[in-house]
Amino acid sequence: MGGAKQWRSMLSPRLSDIEEMLVEKGTLLERLRRKDLDFGKTYRYNDLLAIFEDVCGDVEEHLGRTPKEQCECEYNDGCPMPNIYSDRTVIVERLPRAVLIPTLAHEYTHHIQYESMHRVFNNPANREGHARTVERHIAQKYARRERNPAFLYQVTREDVAELKSVYLWLCDNPNPALMRFRSALDVIENNARKERKMPSDHALGNTFYILKG
Ligand SMILES: [Zn+2]
Repeated sequence: MGGAKQWRSMLSPRLSDIEEMLVEKGTLLERLRRKDLDFGKTYRYNDLLAIFEDVCGDVEEHLGRTPKEQCECEYNDGCPMPNIYSDRTVIVERLPRAVLIPTLAHEYTHHIQYESMHRVFNNPANREGHARTVERHIAQKYARRERNPAFLYQVTREDVAELKSVYLWLCDNPNPALMRFRSALDVIENNARKERKMPSDHALGNTFYILKG
């Protein structure tokens, strides 16, 4: 996974598959929006740690890996930074349960990559695409277990914005029917595409992994 040229030649032949996935994820997002979603509550720090421990167990089980070094978890209170993984620490906003849990899964996946999946960790698009797959898996698991589709909302918004960003980058004449699929994250992706002259690492990696199936 490398520069714009390589990405273009890898993804261009899959344009119709990208369209198909955009329709699928966009339709799911519309369906979720019509529901009265319950995102649950936000948690005190001690409860965050308990939830983080559960999510770490879920992610480790899914990936079949247990890292040697532990990972800390903190709220980003007072810092303007969004959710990140850095220095064996996951730092998240005070998010409601249905957004918090998939976000913790995504960031903790970066810890496992850092500890034991170096080839994945060292390539930004690979790193983010792989973390999206785990985020989605955990979102689906909790949505099923708690019978709550709100868990699917955030990752589906990301999927729509990221697939669409790649689609618009690849396509000279985008199909207007696909432009009705909108995500609150479109603006972030549009800015990234303008700045980098190619989609974000999240968008490229996520699209690559979605196509891989
Ligand atoms: Zn990430």
